[in-house]
Amino acid sequence: MSQGFNTRAVHAGQEPDPTTGSVVPPLYQTSTFAQDGIGGLRHGYEYGRGTNPTRDSLQTQLAALEGGKHGFSFASGLAAEDALIRALLAPGDHIVMGNDVYGGTYRLINRVLAPWGITNAAVDMSDAGAVAAAVSAGNTKMIWVETPSNPMMKITDIAALAEVARAAGALLVVDNTFASPYLQTPLALGADIVVHSTTKYIGGHSDASGGAIVLDDDAMAEKIGFIQFAAGAVSAPMEAWLTTRGLKTLGVRMDRHSENAQKIAEWLQTRPEVERVLYPGLPEHPGHELAARQMKKFGGMISVQFKGGEAAARKVAESTQLFTLAESLGGIESLMNYPSEMTHASVKGTDLAVPVNLIRLSVGIEDVEDLLADLEHAFAKAWGERHHQVEL
Ligand code: PLP
Repeated sequence: MSQGFNTRAVHAGQEPDPTTGSVVPPLYQTSTFAQDGIGGLRHGYEYGRGTNPTRDSLQTQLAALEGGKHGFSFASGLAAEDALIRALLAPGDHIVMGNDVYGGTYRLINRVLAPWGITNAAVDMSDAGAVAAAVSAGNTKMIWVETPSNPMMKITDIAALAEVARAAGALLVVDNTFASPYLQTPLALGADIVVHSTTKYIGGHSDASGGAIVLDDDAMAEKIGFIQFAAGAVSAPMEAWLTTRGLKTLGVRMDRHSENAQKIAEWLQTRPEVERVLYPGLPEHPGHELAARQMKKFGGMISVQFKGGEAAARKVAESTQLFTLAESLGGIESLMNYPSEMTHASVKGTDLAVPVNLIRLSVGIEDVEDLLADLEHAFAKAWGERHHQVEL
């Protein structure tokens, strides 16, 4: 019988150390390995860029949680994406991506890989017709989806797009960073490849950067493994070890993130200052039913748009105390982000630009009453001052 998610999170790749019995696999903080005579490798370990037992342990854990055969860990999410695209595509190939993918993904594809010869189109992934129209027969080799998307929280039907991709002879890649494998397993829904910024929910404590690729196909895995070794953007041992430690508690963290976010989204909806709350757990969200089918819960990310426009969004973003104003997401602590000037500044002025009246909340695992009090206080401060200014 296959084991449950939390059992795999705690045990996959985590056998006690055979030498000492250390229950926690040690951190192999080394760049190289002693050889017993030339070529006499112990357990195949030779040089840190190639393999390291700490990274192996994380890679096994990642593969087990995404339900894939092969897992690869990189120095960052973008390093993983870069390695994936260069391993599997060639100059002249075309990528169709969501028109609200993470700004850094767009920048990588459009400004680093485009000069290398990769062409792209950015479309609304929730519109299957638009995706089919953007696919260029024989040329489109990859369809790139983020669901929920960052920061517009759009939900895309992974199973439906897997069929579009198959018909086009393209690979379906899903960036599963926002959901995490606890809430959504794209490979089981027909995707070919999953990517992550493990910097986010997988690591979960805002103390380690990393990226991951998980897939089933042996031939593609060999090419990715080669790029990982030959280009060398691997995760360092300490980062891999911290990520493994974080990943063991992913399930309990995601339950709490989701529970807190649902309450905060419902509270935000009652506020007259708010124009729109983007959270798939709300029945009004256009992707609610699809998310309920495709995800176990709705996650910890919320975006909010304000009637008061840019000034209101900026003021709220700068008025909280528990929600820290910072880039990134997915840690145990709550973060606040103003995407159009922070995480998504790189897509300003493009079709992917984020509305200026929007803030993004990464809801942490603190007591939700305290988070709500923090937001109430920030709203009072923002609108108190604004009313005062208007009176003046
Ligand atoms: N994918 C998504 C959805 C992200 O939010 C991010 C970073 O914010 C990345 C990929 C890139 O990851 P990293 O910052 O670890 O390179």
